[in-house]
Amino acid sequence: MSGSKLGGFISKVSRSFFGKRMIIAKSRKDLDRMREVGELIAEVREAVREMIAPGVTTLELNEAAAKMMNDAGARPAFLNYQPSGMTPFPFVICASVNEQVVHGFSNEKPLQEGDILSVDMAAFYNGFVGDTAMTVAIGEVGEEVAQLIRVTEECLMLGIEQCRPNNRVGDIGAAIQKHAERYNYGIVRDYTGHGIGRSMHEAPQIANYGRPGTKEKIRAGYCFAIEPMLNMGTHETKTLDDKWTVITADGKPSAHCEHTIAVTPEGPEILTLSKKQKAALKQTKSETIAA
Ligand code: MG
Repeated sequence: MSGSKLGGFISKVSRSFFGKRMIIAKSRKDLDRMREVGELIAEVREAVREMIAPGVTTLELNEAAAKMMNDAGARPAFLNYQPSGMTPFPFVICASVNEQVVHGFSNEKPLQEGDILSVDMAAFYNGFVGDTAMTVAIGEVGEEVAQLIRVTEECLMLGIEQCRPNNRVGDIGAAIQKHAERYNYGIVRDYTGHGIGRSMHEAPQIANYGRPGTKEKIRAGYCFAIEPMLNMGTHETKTLDDKWTVITADGKPSAHCEHTIAVTPEGPEILTLSKKQKAALKQTKSETIAA
């Protein structure tokens, strides 16, 4: 499992330093900023989700996301991102269709009924970063593909559930792996989740596989980007000639979803929820308590 890269972007150089870096616990004030940028990027994600339909191009989605971030006073974190030895990433969003896993380029090709599209996006606001991704079906898709998306979302939530004080980072990967393997999906190993804060990529590296009770201890104040990437077939990937777009080695579809979360004394708090999603969650919680 050597040579893992972060789900977002990371160079070989940063990777070698990565293991030695400290996990940064956020102050109360930092967490408020993380909440702000989390909600901001979630609103952009949900607006992009609403736009996705047959006939729409990923370039249109990219431009819409750019405008929304700009209007909100946020700076896109992916645009011109350049790990050493790489060319700058040329778009605001990563738009990865079907067998594309991550880091896909936006283009003028209309999305087609039956396709799936993974959209990953991140922004800086008030000095902090929010990072989120979703996979969306274009119109009607086959049951097999719909299940891949659903299970990836379930894996995300199971991983998040492990983000509690005194658990370990290996618990997150173990929960994701257990659920994904139930469906025989390939778990992408070359890219991982990560700590997040003032930088898009902080320690620790958070693999989507692992053993319970291993790796770093989780503490209140840590912020993580959890991002399972599941393939219908093999876990192996390759990179296209554009040096960025990652595809599955066997050409089968791949799904990716991501939230930025904060570890609180009570457990995980998902930071990348829209206002509407937060209201719905609050409603569910109060109903649960009432019942
Ligand atoms: Mg990420």
